[in-house]
Amino acid sequence: MLDKFFDDKRELLDNLTQIFMRDVIVQYMEHLIKNNIEFTFGILDIDNFKNINDSYGHLVGDEVLKVVSLSMLKICKNRGVVGRYGGDEFIYVFPKITDYDDVWHVAFDILKSVSKITFENHEEIVLSYTLGLSRFPLNGKTVDDLFELADKALYRGKMKGRNCFIIYLPEKHANIDLKGKRDTINSPLYIHNKIYEFLHGANDLDKSLQNVINYIGSYLMIDHMCIETKDKLKYEYVHPISSKKSGFLKLGYDLIRNTMTNSGIIFENTVLLSKNKKTDKLMMTLEAQSIYSEVLCEIRVKNDVYGYLRCDMVSMDTGRIWQQEDLVTLHLLAIVIGLVMEAKGE
Ligand code: GH3
Ligand code: MG
Repeated sequence: MLDKFFDDKRELLDNLTQIFMRDVIVQYMEHLIKNNIEFTFGILDIDNFKNINDSYGHLVGDEVLKVVSLSMLKICKNRGVVGRYGGDEFIYVFPKITDYDDVWHVAFDILKSVSKITFENHEEIVLSYTLGLSRFPLNGKTVDDLFELADKALYRGKMKGRNCFIIYLPEKHANIDLKGKRDTINSPLYIHNKIYEFLHGANDLDKSLQNVINYIGSYLMIDHMCIETKDKLKYEYVHPISSKKSGFLKLGYDLIRNTMTNSGIIFENTVLLSKNKKTDKLMMTLEAQSIYSEVLCEIRVKNDVYGYLRCDMVSMDTGRIWQQEDLVTLHLLAIVIGLVMEAKGE
């Protein structure tokens, strides 16, 4: 769908991927803004791309970027243009598509298509992607603003568990603070230090536990988080954007205990797809409460299990892909809670 604007720019390609370099896309946005043509802008970032470089080396990483770029060209040929922003980030412009439902469908198609990309010599590589979108003139009137707002939406998507798209909506995303994003996103060091601050020298243990669960629930965007003990749910936290606000019931201490692994953690990205006999009963119990992704971590006090740190996601659409960093943080939090309780003689 390349219009005349691109006639003298066909050579301005990114060296590695042979798709447009970032400046072409930026100039195109400026051109559309000048002519008051509405459009949607998107930033797509490959999830956990560092793992590909770390596991297979940079050359394979480069090949992956090339294959992904070529597929993206095909995917958006009839609707817009795509370029490489740099690294594992790609930028899109879709002229004349700004209605929320239309943008939703375009984003859905893109994510669905890129998720199907396979790699000839490495069939085992499965990638997921996160996409943030902003709209002109609805959200912003300059290239800088549209970048910033799409970046906020992207950041929100990464924090939500990746593998999703987020269309910027001021009422939901305006307050997202990108300052320090590079330091904090996925940084177990940052979050572990926070856990220490909440629990170190806690005078009122109940209050500190509620605070730390509120904080981690909010930071990791967990719909419902609590500690399930033998007889009740304690320290419950419900995320403001959770579609289920109340009515969370016990899963059952004995049921969790019978299903628990030796390492003290159970997690499931998509409860509905789980076909593991050992976890079947637990999965059915979760489903009955409309919980579709789950993490449970054992809290040991002295030589017994006090309860379970429980993390529920109730959104059915994508499930949640629990990231290694999330799991490390939650597992560690459960261990620390047990140690603090033990030290306090609970
Ligand atoms: P996230 O899900 O948060 O996006 O995690 P990520 O691992 O994808 O992290 P991020 O997007 O911040 O990092 C992208 C990585 O891509 C960093 C760098 O090692 C790698 N990278 C950037 N440019 C190139 C390139 O040209 N070739 C290769 N092979 N790797 C690149
Ligand atoms: Mg990435």
